Amino acid sequence: MPADQGADAGRHDRLLAGELTSYTLDKRLLDAAGQVLWCEVTAAAVPGPTDAVDCLIVHVQDVSRRREAELELANRALHDGLTGLPNRFLARQWLGNALDEDLGRSVGVLYCDLDRFKVVNDSLGHGAGDELLIEVARRFRGALRPADLASRVGGDEFVVICEGVTGEHELMSLAARLAASLDEPIMMGGQSHTVSVSIGAALGRAPDECDDVLVRADLALLRAKRSGRARTELFDVALDRVATRADLQLEDQLRASVASGQLRALYQPVVRLSDRTTVGHEALLRWQYDDHGLLTPDGFLPLAESSGLIRPIGWWMLRTACADTVAAGANWVAVNASPSQLAETTLVESVTAQLAASGLPPERLHLEVTESALMQASSRLIDELMELRRVGVGISLDDFGTGFSSLSLLRDLPVTTVKIDRSFVGPLLSDSSALAIVRAVVGMCGDLGLPVVAEGVETPEQYEALLELGCTHGQGYLFGRPAAVPTRSAGGAAVPS
Ligand code: C2E
Ligand code: CA
Ligand code: CA
Repeated sequence: MPADQGADAGRHDRLLAGELTSYTLDKRLLDAAGQVLWCEVTAAAVPGPTDAVDCLIVHVQDVSRRREAELELANRALHDGLTGLPNRFLARQWLGNALDEDLGRSVGVLYCDLDRFKVVNDSLGHGAGDELLIEVARRFRGALRPADLASRVGGDEFVVICEGVTGEHELMSLAARLAASLDEPIMMGGQSHTVSVSIGAALGRAPDECDDVLVRADLALLRAKRSGRARTELFDVALDRVATRADLQLEDQLRASVASGQLRALYQPVVRLSDRTTVGHEALLRWQYDDHGLLTPDGFLPLAESSGLIRPIGWWMLRTACADTVAAGANWVAVNASPSQLAETTLVESVTAQLAASGLPPERLHLEVTESALMQASSRLIDELMELRRVGVGISLDDFGTGFSSLSLLRDLPVTTVKIDRSFVGPLLSDSSALAIVRAVVGMCGDLGLPVVAEGVETPEQYEALLELGCTHGQGYLFGRPAAVPTRSAGGAAVPS
C-alpha cells in the first residue's frame, strides 16, 4: 500500500477526539474519471456548543503540479542536467558507500579534466561545448565496466569511481581505456575535432574518508596537467606533503589577514521586482590578499571552514555588516551564516550581542542559512532559529533548489524568505524544467505568504519572466553588483514587502 494511503487515519481520529484542531497533508486521491491526483488535504474541526466536535471542514486542493516539480527537483539534485550523469553530490555518496562497504579490495577514483575545453567553448561557442560534453559522457560510459560510476562534477570535470579494484595496475588500465575512448574525433558544430583528457588516479580503502580520496585524485590531476596534459598520474604520498604545505601557508596568511584587517564586506542590493526599488542588501565577504586583489569566497571559504577560521571571520562579518548598515542608513542586511557558526551553542546570544553593539534593530538583520544546512539541522538549531525569529531577526533559506527539501517542508521551517538558487534563474528561458520549478517554488511561497528572492538575475528577459511568474524580489548583476557601501534604500519597509 502506498505510504500516503491511510496516512491521515491517526490524525483524523485525533481531530475527532479534540486532540488536534487541524492538520494538513499530501495524499493521492482518485478523481471522477479514475485518474490519480496528488492533493493537499486540510481538515479542521468545528466545535459545537458543548465543545465536542460538531463538524469537520475539509479542503482538498489539487497539487499535482507541485508534486511533479518536487520529483524533478529531487532528480536534478542528483544529476547533471546536460549529460544526465550523476553529479558531485551523488558521486560523493557513492564513493562514501563504496569505502564503507570494505570488501577487502580498493576503490579507485579517476579525476578527469578535458584538455583545453575553454578554447572549444570560446572559439566554437557554448553549443559546441555542450555537444562535446554530451559525447564525452557517452564515450566514458561505454568504456567503463557495468559497476563503475561516471559522474560530472564541474564544467569539464568528470569523476569516475571504480569499485573492487585489485590495485594500481588495474586502475591505470581503466584510466587508459577512458583516455582511449576519446581517440576518435568528435563532431562539434558540424566539424570533427580531437580532444584529450588529463586524469588523476587515486586508490582508497576503508576507513579512508571519501573527501580525502577525492583530494588525492585531484592532486594527481594537477600534476598530470602541469606535466603536459593528455596524461594520467597516480597519486603518491609526496604529492600529499606538497599540498599540505601550500594549504598551511595559505591558512597562516588568512589567519594573519583576519587580525590585520584585510577582510572586506561588499553589499549587493536586493530589489522588489514590481518597481525595482532596493529593499535591502546581502553582505558578501572578500579577502584583500596582498597583491592578489580582492579574492572571492570560493577560493578560501573551504579552507576557512576546515581550519575553523570561519568562526572569527563569520562574527567579524556580522559585526561589520550591522555597523555598515547603521552608518549608511540602509534598510536591512542579509548575512550568510556558515555551518560552523550555526553549530555554536551560543548562536542566539552572539547574534543579539552584535545587534546590541551596533544598534541595528533585529528586524533589519536577516540570517542566510543554506538549504542543505537547514536540512541537516539539529532540533537545537531549529529551536535557536525560532528564537531568533521571535526576537525579530529574519531567516532566509539560501540557495533553494540545490538541496533535497521537498517544497511542502517549507511549511514547517522557521524561514521568512526563500532565495532561489541562480542555477535555476540562469536557464529560466531555455530550460522548461527550471521554469516549472521556479513556478512551483513561487506558487508555494505565495500560498505561505513568503517573499521569494531570485538570485543571479542578469538579463532584462529573466527579469520579465520572473515578474510574470509572480516572483517578488530579485538580486543580480542586472540590479547591481556587490559594492563597498550599501546604498540607502528607498521605500523603507523593514522586511521585503
Ligand atoms: P551566495 O550566498 O549564493 O551569494 C551570491 C553569490 O552570487 C555572490 O558570490 C554574488 O557575487 C554572486 N552573484 C550575484 N549576482 C550575480 C549574477 O547576476 N550573476 C552571477 N553569476 N553571480 C552573481 P560571491 O560573493 O563570490 O560569494 C559566493 C558564496 O560565498 C556566497 O554565495 C556564499 O555562499 C559565500 N559567502 C559569501 N560571503 C560569506 C560570508 O560572509 N560568510 C559565509 N559563511 N559565506 C559567505
Ligand atoms: Ca547568500
Ligand atoms: Ca545564494
